[in-house]
Amino acid sequence: MHNMVHPQGRVHSTIDYSQNPFIVIWEVTRACELKCIHCRADAQTKPDSNQLNHEEGIKLIDEIYEINNPMLVFTGGDCMMRDDIFELSEYAVNKGMRVSMTPSATQMVTKERMERAKRAGLSRWGLSLDGPTPSIHDHFRGIHGSFALTVEKIKSLNELGMPLQINTVISRYNYESLEQMAELVAELKAVMWYIFLLVPTGRGQIDDCISPAEHEKVFRWLYELGKTAPFDIKTTAAQHYRRVVIQQKTRENLVDKGDIRYEDSIMDTAYLIDGLKRAPQGVNDGNGFIFVSHTGDVLPSGLLPIKVGNVRERPLKDIYRESPILKELRNPDLYKGKCGICEFRFVCGGSRSRAYAVTGDYLESEPYCVYIPPAHRILHMSLTTN
Ligand code: SF4
Repeated sequence: MHNMVHPQGRVHSTIDYSQNPFIVIWEVTRACELKCIHCRADAQTKPDSNQLNHEEGIKLIDEIYEINNPMLVFTGGDCMMRDDIFELSEYAVNKGMRVSMTPSATQMVTKERMERAKRAGLSRWGLSLDGPTPSIHDHFRGIHGSFALTVEKIKSLNELGMPLQINTVISRYNYESLEQMAELVAELKAVMWYIFLLVPTGRGQIDDCISPAEHEKVFRWLYELGKTAPFDIKTTAAQHYRRVVIQQKTRENLVDKGDIRYEDSIMDTAYLIDGLKRAPQGVNDGNGFIFVSHTGDVLPSGLLPIKVGNVRERPLKDIYRESPILKELRNPDLYKGKCGICEFRFVCGGSRSRAYAVTGDYLESEPYCVYIPPAHRILHMSLTTN
């Protein structure tokens, strides 16, 4: 990582995503008691006997640290179903890593474990809430009483002073109640609202996704919400939210284009996105973002289930830097359809996971984006007039 001084004086740190990821997600186990209807992992009740063991986990943490010390997120399944989770956390934190985890809200999340996590130096604890009411959330999580339990756990985290992140998957089930959901996120004192736009993979179904126009509406609403909300907003599988932020800021004259080229002005606006505390460049699957499964398989993301290597066979650094699939994913000029000629392709590029889930081709266009790039319109016009 190196620091760059932006022309307007802001110091901006950049990472070369062809060499190092910004964030590594490690699925420490696939075991989980919940049966969420959108579960990416199609989680199982018991840990897989082939899951990375403690020594392999320590070796993996060392390898992650060596690729420029990215953010490390423990996910599952349910992280709490792993006995050594706090030893792993402590080990990583003691190396100087920023670690957070996203356990499932079950009876396994006890006050003792929360205190242990705090002592281990975890930077943030993420819990999922997928609706503002028990009926919406419990239906989504597949367990009656999950809403009440999650709120109870959140209150204990608040008492401990542990920074809280609330994760929400936006789908047909909660689309109509997002206003209420945002109020609840504020009421529960979350420092971050992490929003996932459903990708139809694992148990997630295409009929559960909101439409492209509804994605657009959600993004515009989020942009407005972000101006006043007492929490930060981050999105996953919503790369086109960056395009909406840029367009809205341009409309509000927050982007001074001057006489610089439009592409430059987009890059310029990327700094503004950074100002909103997002990753400094457009993170996408396999591009600044990498996922290690419970058995060591390396995937561009948990939502893009194409194996590009295994950490038992090759160091993570080599897989990340040299995988031909990851190299393709990191080259927006290779994207097909409108994403490939869109002027926003370097800051957005569409969700590669969703493109893959819907079309079977990870280089295809984001199927849930309403934007028609000018270059696409020109191409379409010349094709129809010839
Ligand atoms: S067309 Fe593709 S690259 Fe352009 S804004 Fe939409 S998703 Fe992003």
